[in-house]
Amino acid sequence: MTSTSADRPGPSDALSSVPTARRAPVRGMLRFCYGPMDCGKSTLALQINHNHARQGRRGLLLVRHDRSGAPRITSRIGIARDAMEVGPDADPRQLIRQRWVAGQHVDYLIVDEAQFLSPSQVEQLAELADEVGIDVYCFGIATDFRGELFPGARRLFELADELQPVQVEVLCWCGAPGRFNARVRDGEVLREGDTVVVADTSPGMVEDATSLQGDPEFTTLRYQVLCRRHFRLGDLGPAAAQRGQLRLG
Ligand SMILES: [Zn+2]
Repeated sequence: MTSTSADRPGPSDALSSVPTARRAPVRGMLRFCYGPMDCGKSTLALQINHNHARQGRRGLLLVRHDRSGAPRITSRIGIARDAMEVGPDADPRQLIRQRWVAGQHVDYLIVDEAQFLSPSQVEQLAELADEVGIDVYCFGIATDFRGELFPGARRLFELADELQPVQVEVLCWCGAPGRFNARVRDGEVLREGDTVVVADTSPGMVEDATSLQGDPEFTTLRYQVLCRRHFRLGDLGPAAAQRGQLRLG
């Protein structure tokens, strides 16, 4: 057998029974990196963007409800990049088409705060991966303040090719891994309310609480990351007791 026949197998070649036309097409991957607040998701998103861009790949950064209030991906350690806001009715496929019309190729998408995507938007991202070969990296929080999956996060768990818990560990006040974002008002863990209320973890900072505008207690709302046990018990730890009312014992 000559090298030529090995490069271009003829009908008698054993491998010719595998039709080249059925080779897997170039497909993108849909990935979901998830973790509690402050675990470094946005920092990781920007790091992945940097790694791809350095290799000459062209990306698009998308965000829903960024904490900065502007369409940017901002990490709490101070790095930020401009991004496009994905509104509640936006179709990511349209955003990509607009880029194509402008003559820009898109190799990958980075979506921060992906838990706020609608299930259909997640499906549109999966379509972009399958049909156009775009790699999609989603970053977000899995569960809401009740400990239940955000609808967008649930769809990502169902559809993603890869699920990746973010490794930077956030600790509960007790030292155990923090997995739940408790919504706290006046030292109490809230169990009911609207799912989408974006607040900062630093006390007194609350943003985008559209449904709570005008609520006199609005400014006291905050989030705290807790382990499952202390989330269940609603125990915010000794620091919370010092901040709020006195707690003996
Ligand atoms: Zn704990």
